[in-house]
Amino acid sequence: MVDGFVGQIFNSIQGEGLYVGRRQVFVRFAGCALDCNYCDSESFREFRPPKCEVETRPGSMKVKLVKNPMSHELVLRHIGRLATPDIHSVSLTGGEPLGAGEFLVEIAKGCQRSGLATYLESNGASLETMKKVVDYLDIAAMDIKLPEHRAVPVESWPRLLEEELSCIELSLKKGVRTFVKIVVLPTTHEKTILAICRRLAELGDVPLVLQPVFPARKVKRSPTMAQMYRLSRAAARAGVKEIAIIPQVHKLIGVL
Ligand code: SF4
Repeated sequence: MVDGFVGQIFNSIQGEGLYVGRRQVFVRFAGCALDCNYCDSESFREFRPPKCEVETRPGSMKVKLVKNPMSHELVLRHIGRLATPDIHSVSLTGGEPLGAGEFLVEIAKGCQRSGLATYLESNGASLETMKKVVDYLDIAAMDIKLPEHRAVPVESWPRLLEEELSCIELSLKKGVRTFVKIVVLPTTHEKTILAICRRLAELGDVPLVLQPVFPARKVKRSPTMAQMYRLSRAAARAGVKEIAIIPQVHKLIGVL
């Protein structure tokens, strides 16, 4: 039995990326070591929250509080209870799921054992955990952070980028359906996207989602569509073959 800290477990639709609109059970692992200036999950960055919000009925948005830490078996029981026949997969999200180590691995393993597909949403900041969990993943939605996100101090950003690229490379190599998401700020430059996308293109055919930031925390406005088109063209010039511009849909329709 492995115990860990969870922020929320609920049933909703995927609001971002290539699988937008798919119904999922979400397990929001608690804790994230990064500090993105647009973070909309601030309350889930805490590593040891005393309670987890667990939805009482699938899609009701009504929750009860369950004591943390939780065993991985208990999390799996809640996933099973909230899994409606129309769910596409179980989203292992956060906070940062890779920060949960063995607890994440056991939950991903348990989902696959029950015939539920697993969908990791991660900032790719831990290759060590990615190596342990990758065999139990069906889909990986991997973030690449930009220097202007201020996720880490500027001098540490190159190291973070290499860790993220290594996680993406491993995921592709293991045959996990992988795509990359980059959150675009009004200050995001073409040259940053060009440089990152050249590295991505070297890894193989990995689809890219450019997501205009939804104003939150220290970011007060979204980029213009003209800027999004410019960056999308830059990604194509760098050799990325599949590019989509997709905003966060769940915020538009007001679900969890
Ligand atoms: S990686 Fe995600 S949870 Fe962590 S600070 Fe950034 S946006 Fe927030």
